[in-house]
Amino acid sequence: MNNNISPSAFTKAVSEIENRRSKAFQTLELHKAEISKKAPEIDSLYNRILQTSIELSKAIISRSENIGKIIDELKNKNLENQLLIKVMLKEFGYPEDYLKAKYTCPICNDSGYVNGSRCDCLNELIKKYTIDELNKSCKIELHDFDEFNLNLYSKLPDDKSGIIPRERMNEILVQCRNYVDTFSKDSCSLFFLGKTGLGKTFISSMIAKSLIEKGFNVVFDSINNFLIKAENDHFGRSNGNTVDTILNADLVILDDLGSEFSTPFNNSTLYNIINTRINMEVPTIVSTNLSLSELNEKYDDRIISRLTGMFTPYRFFGTDIRQVKRRMMD
Ligand SMILES: [Zn+2]
Repeated sequence: MNNNISPSAFTKAVSEIENRRSKAFQTLELHKAEISKKAPEIDSLYNRILQTSIELSKAIISRSENIGKIIDELKNKNLENQLLIKVMLKEFGYPEDYLKAKYTCPICNDSGYVNGSRCDCLNELIKKYTIDELNKSCKIELHDFDEFNLNLYSKLPDDKSGIIPRERMNEILVQCRNYVDTFSKDSCSLFFLGKTGLGKTFISSMIAKSLIEKGFNVVFDSINNFLIKAENDHFGRSNGNTVDTILNADLVILDDLGSEFSTPFNNSTLYNIINTRINMEVPTIVSTNLSLSELNEKYDDRIISRLTGMFTPYRFFGTDIRQVKRRMMD
């Protein structure tokens, strides 16, 4: 994780960790209250353990001659009582760890730090909130899978190619559902090709929404918006870290390749994102309205060879849905 952390994402992550910790304590307090009511025997044992702990710290401070012996005795007493509590909790029908705080992260006990360094749980939350912030400025509406309307695609074969748009789109839909169902950081990268208005952005948004709901860190926006943000970061006009956030996400969906201006900064940033994610072996989805020959004209070979060689192509087919909808309204 980079050191250039968004302060607001960090604050949110820390407060989430604090919430987890206080929830663990609250639950423990509830359990204690319940036990002292329903099983006072266990309650008094529990208090004895607390008492022994106090005696233990006193013994350590006292520096008396036989301190080693005293500490051993107290420790043994404590262990005995702890075992006894487990047995009695079971007898009363409670789980044996009922009087232990249950932390979300047992590595740092919901403190967020281990030996002075950020615990993975805190880093994960910082990443999640950084991505949330980046996605907040995305103007593309997110959709559910059941909103996709196959009836907008013709069931008649195309004159030239013989492809039946509805069949093709059904295949893509099934594969995208499967992609979401089986998604992991090892999933393949996808390349959505096809003319404008065939549902590439719509399907991308369905994948983004489903995976976000499943708890994955998904970054989704048009390439143009990402590059504008990256440029603002790069030239100090904003203090974000768009490229790092994109590189670290579980899935990145770069919509509408070709809509951005061809500048040296844009081309190298785009190549950096696509190539780095390929090298990290993490999935990316890219969509474009451009044909392969238009892509070849606009981008250098390095970008094209990554997209055509390392991404699984999905070729969308049919008539612009906006025109179909308009016709249906007439
Ligand atoms: Zn932790």
